[in-house]
Amino acid sequence: MQNPYENYLKQLDNVKKYIEAPEGAFEILKNPLRIIEVSIPVKMDDGSIKVFKGWRSQHNNALGPTKGGIRYHPDVTKEEVMALSAWMSIKNAVVGIPYGGGKGGIKVNPKELSQGELERLSRGFIDAIYKYIGVDQDIPAPDVYTNSQIMSWMMDEYSKLVGSYQPGVITGKIKIVGGSQGRGTATARGGFFVLREALKIKGESFKGLTVAVQGFGNAGSFAARFLSEAGANVVAVSDSKGGIYNSQGLPYGPVLEHKMKTGTVRDFDGARNITNEELLELDVDILIPAAIENVITKENAEQIKARYILELANGPITPEADEILYKKGTFILPDVLANAGGVTVSYFEWVQNRTGYYWSEREVHEKLDEVMTQAFHNVYETMKEKEVNSRIASYIVSVSRIIEAMKARGWI
Ligand code: GLU
Repeated sequence: MQNPYENYLKQLDNVKKYIEAPEGAFEILKNPLRIIEVSIPVKMDDGSIKVFKGWRSQHNNALGPTKGGIRYHPDVTKEEVMALSAWMSIKNAVVGIPYGGGKGGIKVNPKELSQGELERLSRGFIDAIYKYIGVDQDIPAPDVYTNSQIMSWMMDEYSKLVGSYQPGVITGKIKIVGGSQGRGTATARGGFFVLREALKIKGESFKGLTVAVQGFGNAGSFAARFLSEAGANVVAVSDSKGGIYNSQGLPYGPVLEHKMKTGTVRDFDGARNITNEELLELDVDILIPAAIENVITKENAEQIKARYILELANGPITPEADEILYKKGTFILPDVLANAGGVTVSYFEWVQNRTGYYWSEREVHEKLDEVMTQAFHNVYETMKEKEVNSRIASYIVSVSRIIEAMKARGWI
């Protein structure tokens, strides 16, 4: 697989000429401040010991404590975690929340672990990194294949280690232990808001637009729901096992039920099975990659027919594919903007944890809408002003903010 950190460096390079800053500023942004590599021994249910590799990368903390999720995936690598942490720096700065960027990952297939093994692994990771995280230091959250239960165990482990209740050290928790209203749906909802603004600018509405969603996890499944509710026609969805297609549209509820029952969206009655590759190339109006990185490359970019791409996954389009798509006139809502709703509500959660005052669901949705709408328009204004594509514009907005903070703090 293409090294995602190389992709990040290329993206960073692309904005250099638009930002006036000493070379040193970019040198700082090219390197994560700290990467922690750990081995986590876990006692398995059969009594054997298995050792898992994990990383936490803290990319930049000029704007505030580093922040970003923890991913459990069999293909996780150090370079991937580094790239994801850098993208978090960019993402947090695009939406203007007071955080730097961080990310964690454990190389594991969580589907092969029992609940007990999963809990011991999650607590073990915190035991290994707890000295380097904290409410004002680095704040983890969920990512691919991690969830609110895992975050709650991790918060508990950290609180025990430091000897006091620390809900603000981790976001995306179960509500009874400090999780925020609206966090579960926040990534998809935030994406929905930016897409709504993009359509408005183009004089379009959701009504009747066809949609394909790759990935039916936390981001993808709720995106399918919100877009269906707004009147769009979701014709294809997929998960890691493959996808389904029906040109007349797929009913959100029954598809979700089918996935819950069988573990996959495949073999759904009234739809045709397709591959993940086929899904990307469907003749739809809106394509939503909501799974993993590097799925649209120079090999298939030419075949992508969607007019809008909403990147709910991190890094789904390689820089080479990006160029091809922008040339074709595809309107891309880049990951650092499109999926920032998750970390934005994480920020709300952290604020609530720190003040001990909890907000209603309506308040969370309204504030999220405000942040995402504002961020979209900042990016859109920059696109027009500098005559650049949306990804470069997002990077201009965020890198300028990070550099301003580094200057203010006297680093450069
Ligand atoms: N993992 C999510 C992301 O990539 C959320 C991070 C967070 O909430 O801190 O943006």
